[in-house]
Amino acid sequence: MGMGDARVHTLVLATTNPGKVREYEWLLAEAGLPLRILGLGEVGLSAPPETGETFAENAILKARHAAVGSGLPALADDSGLEVDGLGGAPGVRSACYAGEGATDEANRRRLITELARVPEGERTGRFRCAIAIVLLDGAVETVEGHCEGHVITAPRGDNGFGYDSLFLLPGRGLTLAELTLAEKNAISHRARATAQALPVLRRLLAQGEEGG
Ligand code: IMP
Repeated sequence: MGMGDARVHTLVLATTNPGKVREYEWLLAEAGLPLRILGLGEVGLSAPPETGETFAENAILKARHAAVGSGLPALADDSGLEVDGLGGAPGVRSACYAGEGATDEANRRRLITELARVPEGERTGRFRCAIAIVLLDGAVETVEGHCEGHVITAPRGDNGFGYDSLFLLPGRGLTLAELTLAEKNAISHRARATAQALPVLRRLLAQGEEGG
């Protein structure tokens, strides 16, 4: 067994958010995957515009941009909230629902306003997370995770971020913002997508061993 390709031990995470880099470092260490993670800034890149129509399309365009720009394998995620009675909105526009650069608070206010015209029974929805990984040979793999719930109009709970305080888990009678981080990480769309991504990352490490 050779040492493999040095590139395979490094993965570019297509984000400029240091919190996300730390979160993935933790998740990969937990899974026993010996990958060093670099953020976009560390490879001299900035984030591309997110022009996709789906979470998967956005994840793929971000991962490709990072892989092509760095010459390294790359991982990107894209996530957001879909409400059935709003035709899937805010969807891929979740981060900027109330406008470019909007705060979480402003986005929640817009969601509450939009929900006024949605009957109670159609306030079902889900958080979705897509992860795209560009392997050493340039192949792109995508995986997804979701978390089903019901959207409410009076915020509850102080944990989490984004739309967590408006997202009720009907089975538990609690919003995501009323869960601890550990509890949220056991069921979240992002945790579920990450679990699906682990076999792909193991394949990446195996590609290095094979000299591919
Ligand atoms: P991003 O994919 O991390 O850029 O997330 C896009 C947007 O979706 C965020 O700005 C949030 O508004 C929303 N979002 C994604 N994941 C979560 C979550 O776990 N809780 C609450 N809001 C989320």
